[in-house]
Amino acid sequence: MDLGGRVALVTGASRGIGRAVAIALAGRGAHVAVNYNGNAGAAEETASLVREHGVEALVIRADVADQEQVGAMMQQVLQKFKRIDILVNNAGITRDNILALLQEQDWDAVINTNLKGAYHCAKAALRPMLKARWGRIINISSVVALTGNPGQTNYAAAKAGLIGFTKSLAREIGSRNITVNAIAPGYIATDMTTNLTEENKAQLLKSVPLGRLGAPEDIAAAAAFLAGEGAGYITGQVIVVDGGMAM
Ligand code: NAP
Repeated sequence: MDLGGRVALVTGASRGIGRAVAIALAGRGAHVAVNYNGNAGAAEETASLVREHGVEALVIRADVADQEQVGAMMQQVLQKFKRIDILVNNAGITRDNILALLQEQDWDAVINTNLKGAYHCAKAALRPMLKARWGRIINISSVVALTGNPGQTNYAAAKAGLIGFTKSLAREIGSRNITVNAIAPGYIATDMTTNLTEENKAQLLKSVPLGRLGAPEDIAAAAAFLAGEGAGYITGQVIVVDGGMAM
């Protein structure tokens, strides 16, 4: 239980990758704050799955794009657990369209949730982590940050921004024993990718050497590794978990 006694906040943990990350961290002994935005029932389900590992869970609704809500969320975490050791910036949305048709509100929504949300959460977690001289910040980017993807200029820009954010922050706070890394998932089977037609899926799989879509647990395993003591000398990195798609 290498995360025994640690406290993690996972944003967007009601479903998909965030839920799997919350469960994986709990499985290694961490108490978990389960953040969500709209799906209270799903977040409670995640919390129950976390508690099955004998650790505590705290469900918190907050829109990560809203600084005040993030501040209040961090206060709740600190009030209950007195510490925050691991922050996983996972909350994310897509609003896909080709640039010619992409509306400003869809640009803003994606940047504000995926990129600005990470800024709000990392900033709120920083002070207690600096004080403790221990911390892990894990940002969930995407392989499209590295490759680009038609119809996703907003999303790819946000996810590429997260990589620059990761490397810069890693340099800022490395001396305080806080690591900052990003994970770039490929195509993972979650609500976010359910719109793929069977034809699209078959086409996509041709570019994945491992021949399958990823599972949320594939990303969770990488996150749990980065959160652990064993990854203490890894910072500023982007771990690509994509079945070999973007090598
Ligand atoms: P998902 O199944 O759609 O789940 C998204 C999660 O984010 C939900 O828990 C949702 O909460 C939460 N969320 C959305 N907006 C939020 C906000 N403003 N504040 C707080 N929480 C918010 O997505 P997923 O596939 O698990 O994706 C998780 C992360 O991985 C995202 O950052 C995504 O961009 C990234 N990613 C996914 C893939 C993929 O193929 N699936 C690939 C690369 C990267 P509610 O349930 O309350 O709405």
